[in-house]
Amino acid sequence: MKKTLTALAVSCTLLPLTFSAQAATLIHAGKAFTGTSNELRNKVTIVIEDNKIESVKSGFVSAEKGDTVIDLKDSTVMPGLMDMHVHLSSQQGGPKSYLERFTLNEADYALRAANYAKITLDAGFTTVRNLGDSHNETIALRTAIDKGYAVGPRIYTVGKSIATTGGHADPSNGMSHLLRPDVGPEQGVVNGEAQAREAVRTRYQDGANLIKITATGGVLSVAKSGQNPQFMTDELEAIVDTAKDYEMTVAVHAHGKEGMKRAITAGVDSIEHGTYMDDEIHELMKANGTYYVPTILAGKFVAEKAKIDGFFPELVRPKAAAIGPLIQQTFATAHKAGVKIAFGTDSGVSAHGDNAQEFALMVEAGMTPADALTSATVNAADLLGVSDILGTLEPSKLADIVAVKGNPFDDITIMENVSFVMKDGVVYKQ
Ligand SMILES: [Zn+2]
Repeated sequence: MKKTLTALAVSCTLLPLTFSAQAATLIHAGKAFTGTSNELRNKVTIVIEDNKIESVKSGFVSAEKGDTVIDLKDSTVMPGLMDMHVHLSSQQGGPKSYLERFTLNEADYALRAANYAKITLDAGFTTVRNLGDSHNETIALRTAIDKGYAVGPRIYTVGKSIATTGGHADPSNGMSHLLRPDVGPEQGVVNGEAQAREAVRTRYQDGANLIKITATGGVLSVAKSGQNPQFMTDELEAIVDTAKDYEMTVAVHAHGKEGMKRAITAGVDSIEHGTYMDDEIHELMKANGTYYVPTILAGKFVAEKAKIDGFFPELVRPKAAAIGPLIQQTFATAHKAGVKIAFGTDSGVSAHGDNAQEFALMVEAGMTPADALTSATVNAADLLGVSDILGTLEPSKLADIVAVKGNPFDDITIMENVSFVMKDGVVYKQ
């Protein structure tokens, strides 16, 4: 059996006969949010064998010889948290952030991402979707974490996002003609169906897990509009259809209505930010089963920073001031309308490790704490297509388990202080 504590893992290697094959780890949880109902269960024991949950039992089950007991009687235990929108290789730091693409190399981004990955795991997020990097560094990071070379959450990454020329994720935006690089499908810039297909196939070849497109303008790019549609319908259909061939889902950055409408109709899987969605979009999303990933935290962050002179380039500042403050209300309306919601923060805009601040913003906007936790566990697993292995505390699921001291149903802000983190049966924080 693989022990859950590093120290024990070492002694296990030295004394392989000390532990019986049946030895388990027992978590004694004062309260548990299992994700299988909206209620908290009192006093449960979660039995973990190797990297999987073997059973969830009522009461505090006594340990047998060789078992390890983890005492979380003062805590609420829940499935590992899942953030469906992060950017691990960057963090918005004002004007200097816009210079980094001229000064940093691939390895700089990769090592920085490794640092932010560790911070994210410490905050209780055992799974993330990385929705855009610079040089596919998060594909390498994902593999490094899976192999144990680096510490961080399970990463499902898009590699480099896909845009059209001058679009939100075009890396040559804002550059002089002298500096502007020649960008195409490999760098995530496409025009027309053929290039759209090529970009998706290139992501597949690179080892990305899913596809991200920027269907409308965005806030932080050096470009005028934060909401204009930036893909034609034939390009969107080419992307969605090609992605399906490779069993990849499509996540869509969108603020403006027209871009959302075209993308949802083309069959994408999630709308990120969604600022100007209205009832027509809600109905379209419900009819197509499209998820909404709100990123309220990013909206709050950019709205705040737009007040500071010189924090953003002049082209960016009015977009941040206009769009940022709207997202929490967009979320409130979409939730009320019954749109499926998966938790996502756009961390990398706000600081990595602050991800759980999104919970309080969701609850403030009218969501129950139970639904907010569901969005970051059950729903996120569904959006990723991994409900068979993640998202609930149930037998045969992977042992991704976190805990907070106290009761998050009484005070959701305690989610910002995760005190226990287990991923794949290994304890990273206790
Ligand atoms: Zn983003």
